[in-house]
Parts: sequence; structure tokens; C-alpha cells
Amino acid sequence: MTIQIECPHCHAQNRLDPARINDAPNCGACHAPLLTGAPLAATKDSLPQLLKHSKLPVVIDFWAPWCGPCQQFGPTFAAAAKDMAGKMLFVKVDTEAEPEMGQQFRVRSIPTLLVIEGNAELERVSGAMSAGQFKAWLMQFI
Ligand SMILES: [Zn+2]
Repeated sequence: MTIQIECPHCHAQNRLDPARINDAPNCGACHAPLLTGAPLAATKDSLPQLLKHSKLPVVIDFWAPWCGPCQQFGPTFAAAAKDMAGKMLFVKVDTEAEPEMGQQFRVRSIPTLLVIEGNAELERVSGAMSAGQFKAWLMQFI
């Protein structure tokens, strides 16, 4: 079973074996790293596979395009994804495009940040954080 992943660089759709999720796969179109240096946009199909197969802790940003604080927090999340590539997997879930996932993870406000490892939720925080707060929060999981 493969999952569909949009390249964060050229937005090409890639099919990927989820067992390779921690092997730094490259985009088939532009050959840039698919999963390092940029958050990965997950869908209701790809997220369960990512969570199942990732050997790294997964941090999920539940956001929506209409949410101002989410937009402000976006660059902080992206910068952390770049800094901590190879230590954690950074995933974004658009709760407007994927409303089932917000319900499944009982997300009541956005942005909500969730850390999951081995299918267990370690911690969640609702509301945007500063870059310093976010980094300090993440350090406890690596
Ligand atoms: Zn690409």
C-alpha cells in the first residue's frame, strides 16, 4: 500500500511506500527531499500510514486557511521542521480540507499541536507559540 504525498517544493504528487517514511525519500519530479526541511501536508489517507510507520516522533499542526493565528504560526512550524529534520517528522493537517481528522483527534480549536509517537499521543497544545516556546516544547520529545 502506498500513500500520496505532495512535494513541499514543486507540489508534484508522489506515491510512497510508508515503510520508507524515515529514509529521506526524494521527489520523483524535482528530486528535492520530500520529507526533510519542510512540513508534510497529510490527508486522512496518509496520516494513519505516517503514524504507523514513522520511527520518529510525529508533530502535527492542525490548522485552517481562514485561521489568522495559524497563518502566523506557519513560518515558525516550517522553520522548526528545517531545524529538526531527522529528529521529528513535521506534519500539517488542513482541518478545512480534512474535517474528519480534526474530529478523529478531538481538535476543538486551531492551531492545535499534537505530538504522537508509536500511535500514542504524548502531548497537545492549543494556540500558537513563539519560536522559542515551540522549540523548547519540542525538545522534550527528542
Ligand atoms: Zn518536487
